This record gives sequence, structure tokens and C-alpha cells, in this order.
Amino acid sequence: MTQRVPLFINGEMIQSRSDNFIPVTDPATQNVIAEVPCATQDEVENAISAAMTAFETWKETPVGERARLMLRYQALLKEHHDEIATLLSSETGKTFEDAKGDVWRGIEVVEHACNIASLSMGETVENVARKIDCYSITQPLGVCVGITPFNFPAMIPLWMFPMAIACGNTFVLKPSEQDPLTPMRLAELFQEAGAPAGLLQVVHGTKEVVDQLLTHKDTPAISFVGSVTVGEHIYRTGTEHLKRVQAFAGAKNHMVIMPDASKNQVINNLVGASVGAGGQRCMAISVAVFVGQAKEWIPELREAMMKVRPGAWNDPDAGYGPLINPGARQRVLDFIQQGKDAGADCILDGSDCTVDGFPDGNWVGPTLFRNVTTEMSIYQEEIFGPVLCAIEVDSIDDAIEMINANPYGNGTSIFTASGAAARKYQHEIKVGQVGINVPVPVPLPMFSFTGWRKSFYGDQHAYGKQAVKFYTETKTVTARWFEDDIDTGVNTTIQLK
Ligand code: NAD
Repeated sequence: MTQRVPLFINGEMIQSRSDNFIPVTDPATQNVIAEVPCATQDEVENAISAAMTAFETWKETPVGERARLMLRYQALLKEHHDEIATLLSSETGKTFEDAKGDVWRGIEVVEHACNIASLSMGETVENVARKIDCYSITQPLGVCVGITPFNFPAMIPLWMFPMAIACGNTFVLKPSEQDPLTPMRLAELFQEAGAPAGLLQVVHGTKEVVDQLLTHKDTPAISFVGSVTVGEHIYRTGTEHLKRVQAFAGAKNHMVIMPDASKNQVINNLVGASVGAGGQRCMAISVAVFVGQAKEWIPELREAMMKVRPGAWNDPDAGYGPLINPGARQRVLDFIQQGKDAGADCILDGSDCTVDGFPDGNWVGPTLFRNVTTEMSIYQEEIFGPVLCAIEVDSIDDAIEMINANPYGNGTSIFTASGAAARKYQHEIKVGQVGINVPVPVPLPMFSFTGWRKSFYGDQHAYGKQAVKFYTETKTVTARWFEDDIDTGVNTTIQLK
């Protein structure tokens, strides 16, 4: 019988009583590797209730103890790094190397959570008035919720629950129903690291389960990562229910190529950033903006893209794996057709891609369009496949104007040898994460993941110092200790006297 993915509630792996299960498939073969339940309303209620009970003791747990849990968790994740990556590859199709990166970037956030004591320090000012001191303290919120996408099943859950829990909260995670095995393994290891029951719950399902979490009276904070349509729904519904929400959504990321850049660096970095992971990264480069004579490198870019081929996760020569499901593949193929119909030149067409031994895989080969204009759907919308649009402009000003008019603002990069061009770009571009000769500028966790505009709804971002702000309340204390019995009289004003 196919493996049924359990729920994780109050420290126990529980089989759901649901009669609604979704198959989890290997995207290279369509073989069903597991079935994931859509949790019942009672099960979601139990998860929230377990988290609420655990919160009562966890919020009183000393910060050093919380940090030590994260230290043990970090060590266990490192010990099981390759095993988690193998599981992750089996359900996402990611190449083993790429899967290891997914796990590693999550471990880095757990390392960051180990610093929780210094990260949550408040501020103090002595003598704000005569013999009166003022200081701020940070306190956890309660039960926090995380809703995560398919494309980073290790890294993105690890963006959320370690920071939330290190801050003193408890957590309910609703991972993607398309690859739930990796997050379940993360939960098992968290318990093995010594996490008390109820700190972390994992429930499965789709819209109904998400909406229950989103509208529940006892879930004050919602973290979401996923597509724009769902992100907007999450932000609107969560804030309508008076919760704090951070919603990371879709993207259209541009790389600007100045003619003074190193041609080899441009080509190598552009190929990796556009077709790596089959383009299924929110920070993938999907538009290459060639400034002036840089356009002469497009034929060589095409040659380099042609050499990359998709394959099974354990094929050491595969550049990337299959798309996550047949629907995602069909969506990408439809975009490629739309690009051709709209008059863009498809100079490398990956629509008709096969991989020996895997006739049923969701394969799409590297695809490169030239002469793309900004009204075309292949430019306007997030394709989430190995498709790169090349656009030629005359100047850096034209590039900046075009990118700032695009509604997304997740990531961008500029390749140049000019400090002045790079400085101008970083200053004028309306995108939250900028790479200078770095193609995919995902910040390390001492900073925050700072998408802008349609790529992010909310104000405090993931990890870094902003995560502590998101997952805590600040309390400000104004304190006076009387030294003697001197009568200071009645103060009828608002002034501190
Ligand atoms: P998705 O929006 O389909 O799903 C994300 C989560 O929302 C899943 O857990 C899913 O079960 C749930 N969900 C789906 N439909 C829902 C609905 N109608 N109501 C409530 N919940 C619903 O996203 P995906 O396809 O899993 O992931 C790919 C998307 O995520 C891309 O758009 C990508 O750009 C984005 N993404 C963004 C970032 C970022 O940091 N900005 C990072 C990774 C992925």
C-alpha cells in the first residue's frame, strides 16, 4: 500500500481520519510515492490547540535553553544533510547538488536562530526623566502559522519555524501538498533534537486547511511563501482578520548586462540563474537585458544554454530536473507558444524535450527568446520554467526605466566592470534584492529576504533582524523606584516629573 503521510500534532505522528488524499508523485516518472491527507477541521483545531498549550510553558523557557534546542537541531540537520537532500530530490526531482543547496540554506537560518539572545535584545535609556528609566523588551506572540510552496521544501519551512520558535512562539506548518515528505523529516529531526511536544505541528491540505488557519482567532501571525494570486488572498484574508501577515509571492527577475562586463562570467552566470532548478526559483533570472553592444553575446549564450540538459535527480550530468507536475509543464509550454504567437524569436526551443529512460517526466528543455517586448505575456508573467527572455536596450537608464515599470520587485542583478554603473543601479532600481556580478542575490540570514512590490505583501521580511520583529511584540517599560518618602505632589499633566 502507498505510504500515507502522517500529521504531526503534539509530538506525535498521527494518521489523518480524512477521506481526502492527494497523491505525491515523482515528477520524473509520475510514480506515486506517497499520499498526503487534507486534514479535517478537527485535526487542524487539535494542532492549534496543542500549539496553544505548549506556548504557555515555552514562552517562559529561558532564552539560552531555546538557543540550545536550535544548536542541537542545527547539528542534527547537518548530520542528516545528504539523507534529507535525497528525500527532497525524490519528491521534487531536483538534482542532488541543487537539493543539497536547498537543505544547506535552511540550515543557515537555524544557525541564525541560535543567536536568539543577542537578536532579541531590547533598548534602554537611563534618566528619560529625573530618576526614571525606560527600556523595551520583546515577547512572543503565541501560535504562528507557516504556509509554504513546493519549490524549496527544506529551506522555506526552515525560514519560518526555527526563528518563530526561537522567539518563544509555537508553530503550525502547512507545507506544500506536492512535496510534504521533506518537511515531515524536518519535523521528526526537530523532535529528535529535544523539542517539547506541541512546539511544532505539521498539518496537510490545500485551501480549506489554509483558510481555517488564516481565519482562526488563536493564530496571530501568518507567514506565507507562494504564488501571487494565493499570496494576495492570504494577505487580504489574514489582515481582514486583524493578524500580522508576511506574504512572499511571485517574481520576474531581470539581469542587466553592461557591455563592459566579462563575457564568460555573464554567460556562465546567466545560464545557471535562468535554467537552474528548471527556472522554478522565485529568484531565477527570467529576463536578460542586454545594454548596447552586449547583445552580440546572445548567440554564445544560446550555445551555452543548449549544452545544459535536464535529467533525473541522480544523473550527475543533468543540469536540472523535471518541472514539478504535468500541469506546470503544460503551463510553461503554453507560455512558449504564446511567445511565438506574439512574434518573439524563439532561438532555442525546449518544448519538445525528452529524456532517455524517463518518457513520462515533466521535461522542458532550455528555451531562449529574443526580440521580446514588454507587452508580451512571456515578459509580463512569471513562467516558472527554464525560459529566458532577452531584451536589448540602448542604455542603463532604459534598463532601469523598464525594470521599474515591471510590477515585481523580488531580485535583480547587474553585470558590469563599472563601479559607477553598479552604484547607480543599486540606488535607482525599485527591487528589494540586488546582485552586483552575483546572479541570484538571496541574502544570508544575518540579513533579511527583502522582496518588494508585487513580490511581497507585509512589512517585516523573513529571517535576519526583521524576523524577530515579525515574531515578537515590543513592550516598553517606564520605571521609577522611590528612594525615600518625599512627597512629590499630584502631577495632573502628561509630563514625567
Ligand atoms: P502556490 O501559491 O500554489 O502554493 C503555496 C501554498 O499555498 C501551498 O502550501 C498551497 O497548498 C497553498 N495554496 C494553494 N492554493 C491555495 C488557495 N487557493 N488558498 C489558500 N492556500 C493555497 O505556490 P507554489 O506553486 O507551491 O510555489 C511557486 C510559487 O511560489 C511561485 O510563484 C514562486 O515565485 C513563489 N515563491 C516565492 C518566493 C519568495 O520568496 N518570494 C519563494 C519561493 C517561491
